[in-house]
Amino acid sequence: MTDAAREADRTLLERRLRHAGLRGTDRVVVHENRAVVVSVRRDVVRVHRGFAYASDRVLRAVVAFRDGASAGRGRAARRELLAFPVHDYVPPAAVARRRSRLRPGDHETVAALYELHATLNLRHFADRLSEPTFRLSDRMRARLGEIVVDDAGARPPEITLGRWHLERDGWTEVAKTVLHEMVHQWQAETGRRLDHGLDFRHKARAVGIEPSARRRVPPDARGARRWID
Ligand SMILES: [Zn+2]
Repeated sequence: MTDAAREADRTLLERRLRHAGLRGTDRVVVHENRAVVVSVRRDVVRVHRGFAYASDRVLRAVVAFRDGASAGRGRAARRELLAFPVHDYVPPAAVARRRSRLRPGDHETVAALYELHATLNLRHFADRLSEPTFRLSDRMRARLGEIVVDDAGARPPEITLGRWHLERDGWTEVAKTVLHEMVHQWQAETGRRLDHGLDFRHKARAVGIEPSARRRVPPDARGARRWID
């Protein structure tokens, strides 16, 4: 992990935290520690670098924690920011040497996915779905996407997309995959079963995607065909 990549994350995180309401006099320092993810001392906010990949909602919790660290609101914010899996994005230094998940351009991709989700949520789900966490996976090859939901509601739903899919199939196909996962999110958040049954097929048609569990994506340059989900 290079210093340039680290500085890029810090700059992005500072900009996003200011957008989320962080006061202008605060300085943002990033770290990759295992234990304490956010701490405040005078006007220096030390934040785990992984938060550069969090949703706006999580960043608002970081700001609320900074603003009210000792009050009840601070405790709620702390719970929310601790639920975000920072180490999945930026693992502690020892792990990072073995397996880095960070790639140049990842933050732009993740930011675009949040925006895509917000747009599709408004267009197809009356803005009722919660804001998920997006992850990119190197290992996801046979499938294009997956969603993990926590029925207890302690963590936001996690939508993972294969980096392979993003790099090769283009944004239109990626948007269909996100919509497919959003139909599963809709199932989870309206108390339905997660499956590809009648509800799924009905809703998928309503939002304009193929109502099938598996989807053929256009062949790549080598003529390979793949199926998803
Ligand atoms: Zn599915």
